[in-house]
Amino acid sequence: MRSFLTILLAAASLSAQTAVPLRVDATDAPRRVFHVQMSMPAKPGPMTLLYPQWIPGDHSPDGPLPQVVGLVVKGGGKTVPWKRDDVNMFAFHIDVPAGTSSLDVSFDFLSPPDTSGFAGGSSATTELAVLNWNQFILYPQGADADRFQYQANLKVPDGWKFGTALPIRRESGNEIEFQPASLTTMVDSPVSAGKHYRTIDLGTDRGAPHFVHLAGDSDRALEAPAELIAAWKNLVAETGALFGSRHYRDYHFLLTLSDHVAHFGLEHHESSDDRVGERTLVDSALRNHEAALLTHEFTHSWNGKYRRPVGLTSGGKDGGYDVPMKGDLLWVYEGLTNYLGEVLAPRSGLWTKEQYMDSLAQTAAAMDNTYGRRWRPLEDTAVAAQLLYFAPEDYANYRRSVDYYPEGSLIWLEVDVLIRKMSSGAKSLNDFCLAFHGGAGGAPALKTYTFDDVVAGLNAVQPYDWAAFFRDRVQSTSPRAPLGGIENGGWKLVYDSKRSEGWKDYEESAKVVDLSYSIGLKVKDDDGTVADILYGGPAKTAGIPPSVKVIAVNGRQYTGTVLREAVEATASGKPLELLIKNGEYFTTHRIQYSGGERYPRLVRDESKPDVVSQIASPMVRH
Ligand SMILES: [Zn+2]
Repeated sequence: MRSFLTILLAAASLSAQTAVPLRVDATDAPRRVFHVQMSMPAKPGPMTLLYPQWIPGDHSPDGPLPQVVGLVVKGGGKTVPWKRDDVNMFAFHIDVPAGTSSLDVSFDFLSPPDTSGFAGGSSATTELAVLNWNQFILYPQGADADRFQYQANLKVPDGWKFGTALPIRRESGNEIEFQPASLTTMVDSPVSAGKHYRTIDLGTDRGAPHFVHLAGDSDRALEAPAELIAAWKNLVAETGALFGSRHYRDYHFLLTLSDHVAHFGLEHHESSDDRVGERTLVDSALRNHEAALLTHEFTHSWNGKYRRPVGLTSGGKDGGYDVPMKGDLLWVYEGLTNYLGEVLAPRSGLWTKEQYMDSLAQTAAAMDNTYGRRWRPLEDTAVAAQLLYFAPEDYANYRRSVDYYPEGSLIWLEVDVLIRKMSSGAKSLNDFCLAFHGGAGGAPALKTYTFDDVVAGLNAVQPYDWAAFFRDRVQSTSPRAPLGGIENGGWKLVYDSKRSEGWKDYEESAKVVDLSYSIGLKVKDDDGTVADILYGGPAKTAGIPPSVKVIAVNGRQYTGTVLREAVEATASGKPLELLIKNGEYFTTHRIQYSGGERYPRLVRDESKPDVVSQIASPMVRH
């Protein structure tokens, strides 16, 4: 623990510093090695250098520390020993020798080969790399992240192009010299670079230019269809109408297309690090499945970066990246972003209205059939985010996952529908976004909020007992999901034997056969591995656990189609028997089920006005 006074004094002594020269040599990126050098101001005596641990947006202490190797500290040309703290693994203690005013610190960062995890996962291939500065930085304990500055130089492999929101001073050949920037801005401003690279100008809106930088494992990966680029431009216009102002100087989508990097999106004030499969832009199923990724990460520039729960700040004056975050309001930070990201997809033309409805049906069914909601309140999935991000899919239906994303979509839809109904269509959640996330705009800023601020913001738009509304949905357990937004919005969740187009895109992209709502089983299409079961569902009752392999279906070798057709045949009274391999043993299980195939979809409830379609309609004429 550090006292507030200590932080103030330490920050004062370090704030007048000239920018730390930081050199990152990424020419070995194809071998996943990044060479780092920095000259750290120092004064004789004890000093502690920290490696960023709590990475903004990851909501977890997942700074990729095991990937740091070859750490050498020198002062006055001589090696200075370092000693890792035996409790805080991210802290390195140094006794700075007399007469030393700066330390030469060097290490290598190894990008891991595996594609799991977030920004700590794989971020380099032979063709491209995504560079997150938190991986290449050490900072002195007590530094004020908003004021402590670095002046970065980056060398990329010959012939590679790059994109970033970090302001550039000059470029020459394959070397980029950046303008000095604070630790906060560095961690917030990744760079993407690659051999196959394309920058698309999305135009200027409210004074801010917008760009998409595509880095792919092939030239083919960069072939974004014209209608997709047009929809991205619509997205810029729609966010302008929704939020009214922008809290960035310019905005850069760093969209990486590779099957060999970790797949996720990570938000920043002025950019987003968006990573998807290589063929996402040229394969319609993949494109539809990922359509709400850019909309989600872009929304975070307002909801997550500019407006942030007080417990999710890091760096800056409130503490360094070694201060644990508190995730209890992630159902606002991520939940509202998930809702707005999905709503912006049909508003921008990235989805049709039907695709939005298919996505909503999928979310509603998943949350409504989550067994773990009987024991775990939604808020606990947020508080325990740092555990759940890294939990296996095995028994996730019982454990619950990071449900504040999908269930957030349902809750905020309910809020939007309620405001529209209570105000007879005069107000909507759009008005809340304009007031809560808008403001003056300009350069990145941080304005924190509490639960009470969210409640007050909603009350200013439409008076209601919002505190009780949220406590009921967020802090208590309920076996059923909050479907009030869908139902009051003029739609009903039903299950039938026909897969919607959105459901097909999902199964194809995720490479699964998802029979969760019939026999309570989801399998990996290619090899029959059971990804998860519905706890309390027919497969569970028949004694089938997750992570086993389906070997045969009614005596015939497993394929996804054989299994799906056998489930379909149960509707005409045919039995369903699975041979599974559990560890080294084989067992046969008769599943007591006769309902045929069942997949979720939304159907219109003609007794009520169609509010959901109004919500999905553009705010701007495109
Ligand atoms: Zn997010």
